[in-house]
Amino acid sequence: MPFDVTSYLRREMLPHIWCPGCGNGIVLRDFAAALEKLDYSRREVVIVSGIGCSSRAAGYLDFDTVHTTHGRALPFATGIKFANPELKVFVIMGDGDASSIGGNHLIHACRRNIDLTAVIFNNHIYGMTGGQFSPMTPKDKKATTAPYGMIERSFDLCRLAGAAGATYVGRATTYHNQLLTRLIVEGAKNRGFSLIEAVTHCPTSYGKRNNMATPTDMVRWQKENSVLIDRIKEGKSSLQEGQFPVGLLHRHDAPEFTTEYLEVVKRAREK
Ligand code: SF4
Repeated sequence: MPFDVTSYLRREMLPHIWCPGCGNGIVLRDFAAALEKLDYSRREVVIVSGIGCSSRAAGYLDFDTVHTTHGRALPFATGIKFANPELKVFVIMGDGDASSIGGNHLIHACRRNIDLTAVIFNNHIYGMTGGQFSPMTPKDKKATTAPYGMIERSFDLCRLAGAAGATYVGRATTYHNQLLTRLIVEGAKNRGFSLIEAVTHCPTSYGKRNNMATPTDMVRWQKENSVLIDRIKEGKSSLQEGQFPVGLLHRHDAPEFTTEYLEVVKRAREK
């Protein structure tokens, strides 16, 4: 039977607030497809989100969801996971939410290797508040707060997460939507902190300022500027200036935080 995203949505929350042509709906669909493949019961799953256009996704999904405060989705998710380590906790954040105001929480979630799966919707800008640049806006691209082009270097959040201790890190785009679903499934199965960057398109606040007037232009940009990491590893392709890799970018094993914590509790009780 073909995948039916509507069976995962809270119909009473529709219509959604996203602009026509926004990529968030594609990421939401791929996320729901991953949940179907994972086959968790609805009672096992909790979805936590921060603030911004993408964080509205949690409210549209028919699970136990929490729409929290700006940059603080990970602390809420950490508390939920601690209260019940059996839960499958997913965190939805935007690029500004995760890498700016929530950046400190992100690096420490990675360092602890707590068993959460974070999906970062990277539209390269603060869309909801009118198009200010974020730490993930590419250099020279325009924003309302960078009308002549971004002069700061942008974060590569995947490299940051891997260096900080995340045990599963991957990236896909709204062009690579089957890959995105696969990475979310594998990230959820990883017993530790998983970060999946979903490069998405925001025609309203980003595309129109950066010579990509339509969603099609933006998806074409994703296709032309991304390279499959497997092809790079096989020597069949290489990264050119401005391009970014997609696929599974980092994986290692490390002790998981709530497991370690419960061991400490057990030892303390035995004394
Ligand atoms: Fe999507 Fe951008 Fe509109 Fe926000 S502002 S809903 S990210 S297109």
